[in-house]
Amino acid sequence: MKLIAGVDIGNSTTEVCIASLDEYQRVKFLSSALVATTGVKGTKDNVTGILRALSMALNKVGKKVSDLDAILLNEAAPVVCDTAMETITETIITDSSVIGHNPSTPGGVGLGVGVTIDVRNLTSAGKNKKYIAVIPGDVSYEDAAKALNDAFDRGIVVSAAIVQKDEAVLICNRIKKMIPIVDEVKHIDRVPQGAVAAVEVASPGRTISTLSNPYGIASIFSLTPEETKYTVPIAKSLIGKRSAVVIRTPEGGVKEQVVPAGSLYIRGGSGSVKVSVESGAEEIMKALESVQPLEDVEGEVGTNVGTMIHRVKNSMASLTGQSASKIKIKDLLAIDTVVPVRVRGGVAGETSMEKAVAIAAMVKTDRLPMMDVAEYLKGKTGVFVKVAGVEAVMAALGALTTPGTELPLAILDVGGGSTDAAIIDQKGIVRSVHLAGAGDLVTMLINTELGLGDRFIAEEVKKNPVAKVESLFHIRMESGEIRFFDRPLNPRYYGRIVALRREDMIPLPREDLTLEKVVQVRRQVKYQVFVHNAIRALRQIAPQNNLKNISNVVMVGGSALDFEIPEMILQELSRYNIVAGRGNIRNCEGPRNAVATGLVMSYVG
Ligand code: ADP
Ligand code: MG
Repeated sequence: MKLIAGVDIGNSTTEVCIASLDEYQRVKFLSSALVATTGVKGTKDNVTGILRALSMALNKVGKKVSDLDAILLNEAAPVVCDTAMETITETIITDSSVIGHNPSTPGGVGLGVGVTIDVRNLTSAGKNKKYIAVIPGDVSYEDAAKALNDAFDRGIVVSAAIVQKDEAVLICNRIKKMIPIVDEVKHIDRVPQGAVAAVEVASPGRTISTLSNPYGIASIFSLTPEETKYTVPIAKSLIGKRSAVVIRTPEGGVKEQVVPAGSLYIRGGSGSVKVSVESGAEEIMKALESVQPLEDVEGEVGTNVGTMIHRVKNSMASLTGQSASKIKIKDLLAIDTVVPVRVRGGVAGETSMEKAVAIAAMVKTDRLPMMDVAEYLKGKTGVFVKVAGVEAVMAALGALTTPGTELPLAILDVGGGSTDAAIIDQKGIVRSVHLAGAGDLVTMLINTELGLGDRFIAEEVKKNPVAKVESLFHIRMESGEIRFFDRPLNPRYYGRIVALRREDMIPLPREDLTLEKVVQVRRQVKYQVFVHNAIRALRQIAPQNNLKNISNVVMVGGSALDFEIPEMILQELSRYNIVAGRGNIRNCEGPRNAVATGLVMSYVG
């Protein structure tokens, strides 16, 4: 009786399974376990995680690592996926001419235009002008309200106010006239005195309409057509806001600086092409397709994309201790996206959404780093360690243990960093491929497109449905269903969008998101990455590259656990008459453990 372990080191997860082998070479699977991968896939740091997972699995059957006769590692095709996002245009507004703002509690409503003046100087203001009072943090709301009321009494026209602290409502409740008030303007010292400004606060349930419209801004400041063009980034950064301030500084100006996005030089077996990143993801992917198989990709020096490709290769070089010139890019996935870009010159950290292309690159080195990992593991455990089998192939063998499957069979391993596919028929393995882009790219895109600024929350948004906390006793789910609670919810969640992780609620850090927006971004990003990659991968392995020649696809890997990805892929593949579904490895693991299981099966023969 022999005891063997299959170990699959992934970008995200290390999965193991333990099996016994009797003298007739009959396998019996005993247990399995999974841990988060320690270190970057293919480096010695992985061993910590491997040992942890092995002990966990062995513990379940009362064994120790030293009881093992063999450990089988996946020949993690030495690939690393990296993603980078480079914006295409950058807007610079010089000399603080905009405060696009979205405080949660502005006061009053409407549009006010006037000349900025410190609230303490209103005593010396004349009647021939309209004013906008600027209220710095060291003036209390009571003093500010008093100064405004005194001015109103003397017939001074104060048409709006800008407040540093979160006190708009407090001031609003104490003054005689209803004026729009914007608060939480952190850098109020940057608001120039004596400049023409406009303050807009939308009525409840609405968003501003004048300052988010270039012609609205032009009318207020009497701008020329040329100047109006420069207000587009300002207007854009104010779309969807509930309140805003735009100030025309005396010497103010706006500059739009276009950082060259650059071109990609794509070299493949059937020629080379140059494609401009600005032409968008679709063109990039078409260019890639046209030179298959890909040999390498380079970026134009001195441009955004050049820097990015350089960074991807360098980080892989330093991880594997090879020179960057030996690192080749074996696959690319480009996705059109939008990123929040800080508007320079803004006073409250305003951002505007700019067009960008996100790129996941799969890098291949010419050395097999798994051998090092194997050596190291052997030294640590004293157990025989063998590197066996290409990942996608092992996944296919493992997937075959799913009840109801038969040959020929295609598998789609949707993991964290890469989307792998393989096809096996009665004679054995036909083809396999590893493509860049999977779950981690989806998480990153959700994070930036929704402006969450927190990868862990983005991960929860990806994995779970969302809901809006409409009162302390009920939530509205994204399906429209209402759920009631007997006990009050945490008041901090009130009015928030939350991700529903089982019984937990994880509030999203932004208050201005709607349920529809979150769901739309989440689904769109998943579609762009997974459906696109599924088709790309299957087409590359299908007989005659025709999807119609594939009849069954089993999905495995962590992303196959997703609550909507497998359905999305199935829907798309059913157009080609393909039956696609989530695997159930050994009838007990769900879509997990395919590679580890496949390793054991291939060892047995
Ligand atoms: P790898 O083989 O690259 O280590 P895995 O097969 O472990 O990857 O898959 C990791 C990916 O699966 C991650 O992107 C993770 O977010 C995703 N994932 C894990 N569990 C779930 C889930 N329940 N729903 C959606 N995605 C999930
Ligand atoms: Mg994997």
